[in-house]
Amino acid sequence: MPPANRVLLRAINRSQVLNTIRTHGPISRADIARVTGLSQATITTITAELINEGLILEKQTGNSTGGRPPILLDLNPESLYVVGLKLTEHYISAALTNIRADVITNLTIPASGETHSVEWVVDFVEEAVERSLTAAGVGRGQLAGVGIGMAGVIDSVTGECRYSPFFQWQDVPFRQLVEERLRVPVYVDNDVNTLTMAEQWFGHGRDVDDFLVITIGRGIGMGIVVNGQFYRGAGGGAGELGHTVIDPEGPLCDCGKHGCLETYVSDGALVRQARDALQGEELIIEEMVARASDGEPALQAIFERAGHVLGVGVANMVNIFDPARIIITGEGTRAGALLFDPMLESIERHTFNGLAEDVEIVIQEWGDEAWARGAASLVLRELYKSPIHKVSR
Ligand SMILES: [Zn+2]
Repeated sequence: MPPANRVLLRAINRSQVLNTIRTHGPISRADIARVTGLSQATITTITAELINEGLILEKQTGNSTGGRPPILLDLNPESLYVVGLKLTEHYISAALTNIRADVITNLTIPASGETHSVEWVVDFVEEAVERSLTAAGVGRGQLAGVGIGMAGVIDSVTGECRYSPFFQWQDVPFRQLVEERLRVPVYVDNDVNTLTMAEQWFGHGRDVDDFLVITIGRGIGMGIVVNGQFYRGAGGGAGELGHTVIDPEGPLCDCGKHGCLETYVSDGALVRQARDALQGEELIIEEMVARASDGEPALQAIFERAGHVLGVGVANMVNIFDPARIIITGEGTRAGALLFDPMLESIERHTFNGLAEDVEIVIQEWGDEAWARGAASLVLRELYKSPIHKVSR
């Protein structure tokens, strides 16, 4: 075998062993051999290397089957850290995580200026990273990289921001600018995509090859994983579930079209419907949820209708993708059963014969750090990824 192939093969084996420990750990060397099909000798060499680098550690807590307890291997949670940032025009949500994507610190840092110039945003990102490291007591030397999730159209390979609705940017080489400033690897992607990757690598998508992540809240987004691969579309714009048309005669959407799913289900749409129902009374979305939960019929009816419409949108996705699982997440999950009971009923009613039985709907409890944790997983997956997949992000 030529030396170059040997190096590649070794890197592939290494990634396979590290991933087996990530998904199955704590696990014995013998079980790693069973799962991967690699030889004991290869596993001994690779695990020694990983222990040496501090990425994994030995634990002597396995179940004894009569003889001496087996030595188990697990990820070393203190080996390295990454910072994930969710970037918006008003604040940065920052999560510092370890190698297992466990969140160590989580900060929300409000923006002080409002210029939105690229220079200003890069300063803001640097501040958020520094504050995260300080809060966690982690040194710069242990920072493996920074992941950034933001709304808009992002070229995930080059890290170029093609379009940002919040900052009004066009074609900004954002990744390069932040990398030059921070001098660590930086990865940038659309925020719904980062959330989907976090589910794929560390969450409900770990054990399935075909799943969708639907985010509800300010807008409605969707991440698509088909055959274990992240699906972006030809131009990187796939997953605009919020702008699928439910009724062409429906309300005007921000995008300029009529009757998009978002015009019924987004936070803004719900608040607007409440204002109409309550003769102009202005509520924020949290108040709407609280009052509907307390039994106010006019507000309950709004969530019920939104749930039905959302169910139609989700059923359409089930008919197209036949996914094993749909993970519903985002700030909008705060409405709970008010929204999801009618949604589930609607999915059942509008899905093509039998397809609804294939799909498991998971409503993911939402935490404010979820977006930033998703961004952190952009960096972590690079660590775990097999070199044959590294060409196409
Ligand atoms: Zn629209």
